[in-house]
Amino acid sequence: MQLSRSIQHCRACGQATVYRVPADDNRPRAVCSGCGLVHYENPLNVVGTVPVWEDKVLLCRRNIEPRHGYWTLPAGFMELGESTAEGALRETDEEAGADIELQGLFTMLNVVRVGQVHFYYRARMLSTRLNPGPETIEARLFSEQDIPWDELAFKTVRETLQCYFADRHSGRFEVHCGDIT
Ligand code: ZN
Repeated sequence: MQLSRSIQHCRACGQATVYRVPADDNRPRAVCSGCGLVHYENPLNVVGTVPVWEDKVLLCRRNIEPRHGYWTLPAGFMELGESTAEGALRETDEEAGADIELQGLFTMLNVVRVGQVHFYYRARMLSTRLNPGPETIEARLFSEQDIPWDELAFKTVRETLQCYFADRHSGRFEVHCGDIT
């Protein structure tokens, strides 16, 4: 599936690229018309957490687009040089300023349409101290009955929260893998 033809100029020499199937390949790539460099585009990882304090889950209200003003679990794009767990901790610190301890991978959700894979870890909050960063309007703890289901930012957040409460009711947490369509 060709998502977009977004690379218009060569990363190495700046000349225009053309999308074509390179020799021994099977799909179109942005190939530099000058130096011949092939630019590969691959899915991005989004990493985040389900921070829990007692019976409540921490959500952040987004201060950035897309989905400004909607509620999300703390999450963001993984950076080079970090593991998925390190990225999840970093994003939770940046967006909520929450002090947490990871408890293991919880969901792995493919979002093929936008070329992303989202990983959420369960996390135990070590205190209720919060210090939201500039990407967050407010960070707040929600009981299950107060979750703003109609104001959630992303389908992966909804899916992860649904899995979380279902597992909590059953008394057993498992890893959930799925595709968001
Ligand atoms: Zn080039």
